[in-house]
Amino acid sequence: MEQTSLLDVRDLTVGFESPYGLIQAVNGMSFTLKQGERIGIVGESGSGKSVTAHAITGLQPSNARVSGEARLDGIDLLRISKREMRRVRGGRIGMVFQNPLHCLNPAMKIGAQIEEAVLAHTGADKNEARQRVLELMDQVGIPSPSRSAQEFPHHFSGGMRQRVMIAIALACKPQIVIADEPTTALDVTIQAQIIDLLAETCETYGAAVILITHDLGILAGFAERIVVMYAGRVAEQGEVDSIYYQPAHPYTLGLLQSVTRIDEARRDRLVPIAGNPPSPVLLPSGCVFHPRCPYAQTVCREQAPPLERVGGFDHMAACHFADEIVAQRTGNNAP
Ligand code: SF4
Repeated sequence: MEQTSLLDVRDLTVGFESPYGLIQAVNGMSFTLKQGERIGIVGESGSGKSVTAHAITGLQPSNARVSGEARLDGIDLLRISKREMRRVRGGRIGMVFQNPLHCLNPAMKIGAQIEEAVLAHTGADKNEARQRVLELMDQVGIPSPSRSAQEFPHHFSGGMRQRVMIAIALACKPQIVIADEPTTALDVTIQAQIIDLLAETCETYGAAVILITHDLGILAGFAERIVVMYAGRVAEQGEVDSIYYQPAHPYTLGLLQSVTRIDEARRDRLVPIAGNPPSPVLLPSGCVFHPRCPYAQTVCREQAPPLERVGGFDHMAACHFADEIVAQRTGNNAP
């Protein structure tokens, strides 16, 4: 039986007012998240992935103009009050950000910071909250919870601080955890540990996860579905195997050739994608990827490709030649 969506984002558009007019950062983004599902949103810096997460959780700056829908269990998060959003954030949605040092209070003990999250979003009393803090610290692999709870953030390594952030995100037993580049500042071994921890703990709590990253390699072995973003649009989305083994968009191909995989010992030669992402104030005509695309033809400069189904269920790509690219790569057709 088809599982219903927990989060349903439809036609999300985010622009920022500026002296140059409205700068479009996200344009018509749609995706769904099922209960307990793990999805990855991947793209280069400026692709709109973090802006998407901020818009869904009400963390966008005051000059942002947001339209579309983001329904969590039917409630449109884009239309609730700031007060209701504060209850959702930290209550039904837990957040893990890139730099825990920016989120943790440097003058407050670790245990007290986790306890604050427990008290704010659960009905626990002080004693229950203290017990819960130790339980959470143990679950996220912080050694000697009673002693560590008395430490300050600067006593912890980057990986340990990120474990604290995961404990805070899980404090309220959320339905969704959004992790925005949670491992960017960490070395590769610690990255793998944090991603594994995120997967394990969210599974224990039955929480769905949106993992935002610029590194497609991070998502191998973690995500069930992947959304690839480019210049504020969905370039491709589908189940993880479709994205890794039958990529249909040249941008996804480029990302695959330019990243390492933390679940693979073998390292092929990495090939960076030529050129840079476009400025949102000066987007290319037609397909926004055409100036960097090795497959580009005249039609690409003239017509924006719609996001259309390719092959398997739920596999979609915004490329005029998606079917040909898949057929060429799977050897079913001559180029
Ligand atoms: Fe490349 Fe054209 Fe496809 Fe855009 S539509 S990704 S330019 S082949």
